[in-house]
Amino acid sequence: MAEETVKATDTVDTFKQLILAKLRYSVGKDPGNAFAHDWFEAVALAARDHLIDHWEDASLQVDRQEQKRVYYLSLEFLIGRLLVDNLSNLGLLDTAREALAQLDVDFEQIRNLEPDAALGNGGLGRLAACFMESMATLNIAAHGYGIRYEHGLFRQVVVDGWQQEHTETWLDFGNPWEFERPEVSYSVGFGGSVVNLADSGDISRHEWHPNEQVRAIAYDTPVVGWRHSSVNTLRLWRARAEEDLQLERFNAGDHFGAVADVVKAESISRVLYPADSTEAGQELRLRQEFFFVSASLQDLIARHLELNLDIHSLPDRVAIQLNDTHPAIAVAELMRLLVDVYRLEWFEAWKLTTATLSYTNHTLLPEALESWPVSLMERLLPRHMQIIYLINAYHIDSLRAKDIHDFDLLRSISLIDEDHGRRVRMGNLAFLGSHSINGVSALHTNLMRKSVFSDFHRLYPERINNKTNGVTFRRWLFQANPQLTELLVGALGEGVLDTPETTLRSLEPFAAKSSFRKQFAAQRQHAKKALAELVRERMGISLDTQAIFDVQVKRIHEYKRQLLNLLHTVALYQAMRNDPATDWAPRVKIFAGKAAASYHQAKLIIKLANDISRTVNADPTLRGLLKVVFIPNYNVSLAEVIIPAADLSEQISTAGLEASGTSNMKFALNGALTIGTLDGANVEMSEQIGRENMFIFGMTAQQVAARSRRDLNMSAEVAASERLAGALEAIRSGVFSPDDPGRYTGLIDGLLAHDRFLVCADFQAYWEAQRKVDILWRTPDRWWQAAVLNTARTGWFSSDRTIREYAKEIWNVSGIDS
Ligand SMILES: *Cc1c(COP(=O)(O)O)cnc(C)c1O
Repeated sequence: MAEETVKATDTVDTFKQLILAKLRYSVGKDPGNAFAHDWFEAVALAARDHLIDHWEDASLQVDRQEQKRVYYLSLEFLIGRLLVDNLSNLGLLDTAREALAQLDVDFEQIRNLEPDAALGNGGLGRLAACFMESMATLNIAAHGYGIRYEHGLFRQVVVDGWQQEHTETWLDFGNPWEFERPEVSYSVGFGGSVVNLADSGDISRHEWHPNEQVRAIAYDTPVVGWRHSSVNTLRLWRARAEEDLQLERFNAGDHFGAVADVVKAESISRVLYPADSTEAGQELRLRQEFFFVSASLQDLIARHLELNLDIHSLPDRVAIQLNDTHPAIAVAELMRLLVDVYRLEWFEAWKLTTATLSYTNHTLLPEALESWPVSLMERLLPRHMQIIYLINAYHIDSLRAKDIHDFDLLRSISLIDEDHGRRVRMGNLAFLGSHSINGVSALHTNLMRKSVFSDFHRLYPERINNKTNGVTFRRWLFQANPQLTELLVGALGEGVLDTPETTLRSLEPFAAKSSFRKQFAAQRQHAKKALAELVRERMGISLDTQAIFDVQVKRIHEYKRQLLNLLHTVALYQAMRNDPATDWAPRVKIFAGKAAASYHQAKLIIKLANDISRTVNADPTLRGLLKVVFIPNYNVSLAEVIIPAADLSEQISTAGLEASGTSNMKFALNGALTIGTLDGANVEMSEQIGRENMFIFGMTAQQVAARSRRDLNMSAEVAASERLAGALEAIRSGVFSPDDPGRYTGLIDGLLAHDRFLVCADFQAYWEAQRKVDILWRTPDRWWQAAVLNTARTGWFSSDRTIREYAKEIWNVSGIDS
């Protein structure tokens, strides 16, 4: 014991010296004149030194063991902050805290100075970040590949209730976690022409001569696993012009023209998701996709060849996962590299390509499936367009050879959509070029087999498989909720930190212990107070932490049905006013989320939430029974404060439309009860957790499909429900918008005429489920029993489980010593 204490003091002292050295020699400050941000940088750099030591180690090990490598290609990585993540996985969190305390620096203050790396929009990008952490934890040799956007997802500012988008500037103070690798750079071509080389042999050779070249420069961020199990690399590409300045033009006085190429090239990595409402925006998006795919494929092939491996062995040593269709052009680019550059025969190249690539589908919404105009592809990627035509032709030949001639089938699986002005279907390209196509929840995968890919599925029944999403418990439990984690360690022992997936189950008996339930409720109070403090500070609204914290935080989208929640809010408001004698359970309705900048309906829903909030919060007749808040600028670090504080988790999408959801898992893990539809991973959650510990309501995916084939005019339903009619009429007539009474007329009339997302159709069931919430809240023993069981039974939703399934069933890789 004494020896350990000495060692710990020793570690703290060493780390303290390291921080001071970083402050002095890297930041250039003394403790006397250092600002808080200087301290943040010094601690981050000190942590980074430890990462590097493990990094070097891990890559040596990996080479020695000749592991197969996984390459995760994703246009988005929604990372959030890294300081606590890295310190915690390195086992240095307490050391750093103590070292800083000795230096009189407030750790809590400096951790909040780190900007979020918000290189993604929502669930899809956050999944990529969770997967990177899990792969490092499981010792899988993996590289993430993406774009180093100078500006990530916009910063949401709410002005007078309306969302405004402001440029996000995460790199303003530099990024202490990344390493610029100017020596790792590739040239990526665009445009130009294809030359058919008269070949010596019997098959013709092609050479692409682009008329524009952009350089991709690598920036590496180490990703460390739990207990520094291994360190992988997230490699993000930045676009640079081949030449910084056209000196001749500059000297001739054309100062802007001299840097025009620079501006054009660098715009590729300027900003996440350029608005695609204009043609220029669409083209930029395609340029982004090809840019990062081409650089990544060139890089991974170079690594393969450096190990003295033959190009033919690519699928034995490399697995490439395409996160959605954004990197689907990889199918054509890998073919181009293999056929044109490495001179492989077409069918051999095709065999290697499909054996190496696999694709994850994230959406069934037809409007969200990517396709590119053939004319744009021909102009920007002429050789790839040829290759896509060839893939298509060979595929159709192969089907005809199997005596498949069904015209409708051939049309539906074609890579070219002939109906909408000739477009390349990226989903079909990704399917055809991959040996595995996976959905992200059981329901979504089944719907995929029946809808978007039904014809492909008939032809290739083995390809579609399911990998239900998960989240990393290191971030979403240990870091976000240290109080709950401490409680779990106290109850279950330290083992819960290493194997929460299995160990959490042993928490079940604790649900029956009243003393444990009290402790569970107490840690929730702690988290609710922290959130209430944040809301008071940022918005000047005070919240009753004894009320139910009823939370819906996610992107604002009609299919996620924030509108259904708002209708319930209004109906509840009216009921509380009309019926003050009823013993209503006090509620705080909490909303947060961003709307796409060009999505007018979603922005109007944000405004409605804020209008309702202002009206309800100011109504003295409620005596504080109901509060409504819309917290601006939802991002990962805000999620880490909100989720542990939630009593009720709203997962109420129209059934069949949410592919999986992952915030549903984060909430349940932290012990919130879910009110939700049987959609996405909610279905599997209800199987694990038990329906009796959730509030499941509403139409099933099957019922939605049947209903949607009929008329979606809801006037009759609405007329039949006084409560719904009252809520709609209040919004419609301007009760919440006296400054502009007609603001929501169009919104409500639209809902009545064509309720595409079945908001009205599900209202009554939702209302009733909410009253069951009230009843359970009134019996705390039962509420907290269910809450404990939610935490106990959510282990399966760890992204470690998901990654093990990918590793075994898709990638055919294993971790070192595993
Ligand atoms: C988990 C997460 C999401 C995904 O939320 P869903 O409710 O599953 O759509 C989006 N944004 C952030 C910041 C997240 O942490």
